[in-house]
Amino acid sequence: MTDKKLTTNKGIPVSNDQASITTGEDSSYTLLQDVQLIEKLAHFDRERIPERVVHAKGAGAHGYFEVTNDLSKYTRAKFLSEVGKKTEIFSRMSTVGGERGSADAKRDPRGFAVKFYTEEGNYDLVGNNIPIFFIRDAIKFPDFIHTQKRHPSNNLADANMFWDFLSLTPESIHQATFLFTDRGTPQNYRHMDGFSSHTYMWYNEKEEYVWVKYHFKTAQGNRTLTNDESIRMCGENPDHATEDLYNAIENGDYPQWDVYVQIMTNDEAKEYKFDPFDVTKVWYHGDYPLIPLGKMVLNKNPENYFAEVEQSAFAPSNFVPGVGPSPDRLLQGRLFTYEDTQRHRLGPNHHQIPINRAKNAEINNYQRDGPMNIGDNGGSGPNYYPNSQDGPIPDISFKPPAIELQAVIDKHTRPVEDVDFVQVGEFWRRVLNDTDKEHLVNNIVGHLGNAQERIQYRQTSLFYKAEPEYGTRVGEGLELDIGKIKTLSEMSQEERVEATKK
Ligand code: NDP
Repeated sequence: MTDKKLTTNKGIPVSNDQASITTGEDSSYTLLQDVQLIEKLAHFDRERIPERVVHAKGAGAHGYFEVTNDLSKYTRAKFLSEVGKKTEIFSRMSTVGGERGSADAKRDPRGFAVKFYTEEGNYDLVGNNIPIFFIRDAIKFPDFIHTQKRHPSNNLADANMFWDFLSLTPESIHQATFLFTDRGTPQNYRHMDGFSSHTYMWYNEKEEYVWVKYHFKTAQGNRTLTNDESIRMCGENPDHATEDLYNAIENGDYPQWDVYVQIMTNDEAKEYKFDPFDVTKVWYHGDYPLIPLGKMVLNKNPENYFAEVEQSAFAPSNFVPGVGPSPDRLLQGRLFTYEDTQRHRLGPNHHQIPINRAKNAEINNYQRDGPMNIGDNGGSGPNYYPNSQDGPIPDISFKPPAIELQAVIDKHTRPVEDVDFVQVGEFWRRVLNDTDKEHLVNNIVGHLGNAQERIQYRQTSLFYKAEPEYGTRVGEGLELDIGKIKTLSEMSQEERVEATKK
């Protein structure tokens, strides 16, 4: 028997939590003076916060990151300074398009976010289980997500808008292909890799910088569901991946990822055969091998899902000294939008919520007030800078490197080029085995088959442009005219769009 006494939210003892104050025993009126009842109902009415506009359904766990290889000559980040150094982390994995109650097994990229509680403040890596993305300019992001969600009129998922957008956005073909392999339906969150996807900057004490991509390789091995298995799982257990992660950790079977980086110098970046900042492309392993960096282990479940997982706020703009952004256009947009969505979802003081608070660094600045301010709000210290009252001063011991730039300011539309199809062709020819190809083709046919025929032609001709065998097999599956697909594939995108208008 507990000796903990029930109270209201104000700490006032509660004498009875099973009955409201009423005017009599039967069929009686409830009185407004039952302030305990009012508090309870009013709080319940406000239990839901806005769900994330993307990545609404997810699971999370605590753990640590440990350095296994000293790469400190490239970065001054203290959490990467020496072999054996451990940093507390919190990781959240998720689906992208579904709502908070949606099924974990749906075909979708998976979010892979990690918050490192370093001694220099919180560092967030907010990536996916796929190393590339559908679009390379953030201005397309809201449109892209609309097409992955529900139709504005009937509130249903819609194959026409899904494939209409992708076929009008051919740089998406690499990621669209990944998504329709079985890696688009990972067996759970433990058996999948994670990628920064974007290129980031690392800089050292001498302000020398390199470009890096992070790879988190699952030590459990990549395992996937087939399309049929994923559809069945969506019905049988919509929470299967959430449950799997929780149970594994509860049973002491702690999932681990081996963390690697690819490193490119700035001179190499100018010469590389692909734009190294284009998030629709990878850096080939043969050109930039994976260099070991560390390992990530998840070993503690959250005690309270809402407090720790739902309220966790990740933003790729949270850098520590030694790490910075790159000119990846999608990243540049995400630097704004992730922090902004947290301000909307959790408020401007979301950094004060325990899961988001810097655990191993002090927070000293002149920002004050705002909704939900639960800290000491700077106490009696000065709220302006500069001041002569011993307020915090900038740390001049570090400075991100200065980048030289010659700029032409414009809306630079990047046309879709032949180079956008090269890596998909390589993926088909060099990476996928016969079974992978068969599943990929069948998975696409099953989904694209629900779109209008003109859209099927437009999209299939893009597959054909990447690799004729790929386009032919999808075309055969859809019972399309292969000659027409070939002709469309040889057109410019403008001509192709014109030819498939109606
Ligand atoms: P490699 O030939 O050296 O390695 C192939 C990569 O593909 C491995 O990372 C492998 O991951 C991954 N892979 C294998 N099967 C699948 C699948 N069904 N779906 C998604 N990924 C899969 O790669 P290269 O660097 O030479 O690049 C060749 C092509 O491989 C690229 O054009 C790109 O499409 C793809 N790729 C490249 C990656 C990169 O970062 N360079 C990463 C992933 C794919 P694993 O080792 O876990 O099996």
